[in-house]
Amino acid sequence: MDRSLHRPCDSSATQARFDSASTQEQPVEIAPGVWWVGVRLVKDHFQCHTYFIANGSEGVLIDPGSPLTIEGTLAKLRSITDLGAIRWLVCHHSDPDICASLPRLGDVLTHPDVHVVTEWRANALIRHYDHPFSTYLVEQHNWCLPLQGNRRLEFQLTPYLHFPGAMVSFDTGSGTLFSSDLFGGFVPDSSVLESADAAYIIENARPFHQHYMPSRELLSAGLARIRSRWPRIERIAPQHGHIVAASIVDEVFSALGAMDCGVYCLADADVDLKRLLRIAEARRRLSEALLHQSSPLGMVRAMGTILESSGQPGECALSVNMPIDGWTTWNSFEDHPERREPPADWHHICLLGDPAMVLALKGKGVQHQFDPDMERMLREFAESMRPWVDHLLEDQRQALEVAALNVAALSDPLTGLANRRALAEAKLPASYSLIELDLDHFKLINDSFGHDAGDRVLKQVARVLKESVREQDQTFRLGGEEFLVLLPEADQATALMVAERIRGSMRQLEAMGAGPVGEVTVSLGVSSKSALLTADFSEVMELADQALYSAKGAGRDRVCAADGLSLSRR
Ligand code: GH3
Ligand code: MG
Ligand code: MG
Repeated sequence: MDRSLHRPCDSSATQARFDSASTQEQPVEIAPGVWWVGVRLVKDHFQCHTYFIANGSEGVLIDPGSPLTIEGTLAKLRSITDLGAIRWLVCHHSDPDICASLPRLGDVLTHPDVHVVTEWRANALIRHYDHPFSTYLVEQHNWCLPLQGNRRLEFQLTPYLHFPGAMVSFDTGSGTLFSSDLFGGFVPDSSVLESADAAYIIENARPFHQHYMPSRELLSAGLARIRSRWPRIERIAPQHGHIVAASIVDEVFSALGAMDCGVYCLADADVDLKRLLRIAEARRRLSEALLHQSSPLGMVRAMGTILESSGQPGECALSVNMPIDGWTTWNSFEDHPERREPPADWHHICLLGDPAMVLALKGKGVQHQFDPDMERMLREFAESMRPWVDHLLEDQRQALEVAALNVAALSDPLTGLANRRALAEAKLPASYSLIELDLDHFKLINDSFGHDAGDRVLKQVARVLKESVREQDQTFRLGGEEFLVLLPEADQATALMVAERIRGSMRQLEAMGAGPVGEVTVSLGVSSKSALLTADFSEVMELADQALYSAKGAGRDRVCAADGLSLSRR
């Protein structure tokens, strides 16, 4: 059997193409004694399948076909059976793609007692094909056609799906559900006959069912009846679309039952099939992108590419209103997200409500019309993005938490200045100066005005310190009433000047609202390391300490420079 042209669809792999050299194709045995004998219509998205059940001298041909396909079907049948061994012609409904071949079959089938197997409402129309066969009305035979052995073909009415007398049948021998239009789909690639990829099946079934099935209620009721009658279905063989493999039967049943049908009752009469197929394809590719893209930028770029290939504008932006940060927008043509709302003059499609997520599309020119069906697909699709967005938000929350913990670990809670740990992690340039500062008689302030007043003074000191230094200088609280300023690239003379400025500012503390604590003075020690010296930070720090000690010893409220010799002596 030439199964290579019919290998199950693998959504990630390229699929075998229809090859004109293989037009002499063979029937495909989909289960023991059950054959696909259809004919592929080249470049047609609407393939019609015919099946044959070998049953001794009373073979069963299911949904025989039309003049477009019947000669190919007969050729396939001849390769597996004598045409005289075909007795039953099951017609699941009355459409021409099923029944228009009946007159031709009247010419070639030689069994003396061929019957059309159908339901009375379908038969009322099928007789108009003017075929020569007798009729086997299933409702008069307990919805059953006995086959050889214990095997039966059992029938189930599926009213209005899509025809009042439509039915499906179940072969108890092979466990095959011949589902007629149910589970039918459009076929983007006629080389794929069966598939075990539920997403692929459903995306191709979606536009078909939206077109042909009148409502979701009818569809899900019909499916439920089928399911309860035949709990074990080995495969689904529809008249259109793809054969559904056993492994995904349950999944496909529930996905189909949830599908919105009948929407085209409200649509314009000229709904374009190719456009709908493009939308179905875009949806399938979006689902794939969702699996593979973890970053919003990757996702919005994939969306841009997919939308563009579906005839929509390629430049788009995805905006999420983050609970803490507010709007963040990822643009398919930019490398980094921005903290801003979706571009105001673009077309907005609201994808989710909480958190708000908007897809903005940049129109092509002022008059650009966006495809409303594409928009509806995007909105439907957005629900499956929710876990993805939740993930995004969780990542962001964790990043903020880690950042907050880092800030907490490296800063002093009272003054907000960096702490000793931050100092240990600070990057040191080749040359820098240190100003170490200690409040004079601070204990007295605490003792006289209370610990709270002392705290207020410490906060004010921290503020004044920060205001007295350059932006590139770093200010630390070393502990207690001791502070340090690290001045990158500053020489000793500059550092001394800054230290004097700090000392002067401290005198104004009371006026600046530190409370009635009297005059606050500070002592400062300055040390410097030039690029020429090799000295550890701890040594430079030690020198600043010594200078500060000298300032205290010399009567406080003053600046002392470290003895430069102690470093140059190394
Ligand atoms: P000196 O001029 O010699 O530096 O004298 P001093 O009183 O400033 O120094 P001493 O080391 O004797 O006292 C420091 C005081 O700072 C003692 C301690 O209770 C107080 N102190 C340390 N940390 C804090 C704080 O976070 N808040 C307040 N209010 N006081 C603090
Ligand atoms: Mg049909
Ligand atoms: Mg002190």
